[in-house]
Amino acid sequence: MIAGHFGFAAAVKSREPATPTWALMLATVWLDIVFVPLFLSGIETLRPAEEGHTGYGANIIYADYTHSLPGVVALSALLGGIAAMVWGRRSGMVIGLVAASHWLLDLLVHRADMPILPGNVGGFPRLGLGLWRYPSLSFCIELALVLVGAWLYWRTASRVVETTGRGARAAALSATLIAIFGVLILWMDFTGA
Ligand SMILES: [Zn+2]
Repeated sequence: MIAGHFGFAAAVKSREPATPTWALMLATVWLDIVFVPLFLSGIETLRPAEEGHTGYGANIIYADYTHSLPGVVALSALLGGIAAMVWGRRSGMVIGLVAASHWLLDLLVHRADMPILPGNVGGFPRLGLGLWRYPSLSFCIELALVLVGAWLYWRTASRVVETTGRGARAAALSATLIAIFGVLILWMDFTGA
């Protein structure tokens, strides 16, 4: 789930225009960004849910630190803290919450692979509702997130245009780009391109 996270960021942007779009986009995938170096160094791993099966939602992901509850809180607070220093308290809060929202959206699709504690200490049951087992359903949910996010973004932008009379083209273009970009990422993710 990458496109769905971006769609959510676009929806937040429509309510929080003072926070830069790129920062919201970054926040929404922040946990996965931190996952990359940990994955490359073998600290966090993944394996196919079924042998020989790869592609969209086909992995069990052992993001045992970045996607553990203390990991989510610490990483979101870190990013939110940095954002607060740059754009003030309000944007810092928004960025921190958007970063943490990643975990909630992941919870929907991941197959019970998200640990409660870092490194899964204590051996508590792993979390995840596993919608990825139904690829067409999770595809539709992600697509809906992208389209609703782009639509909300467009709606707010066009209201700004109405009051200021400026930037109509830029607003329409940004919303269109969000939609196209989101659908493209989703399609690449889904088809494994
Ligand atoms: Zn994730």
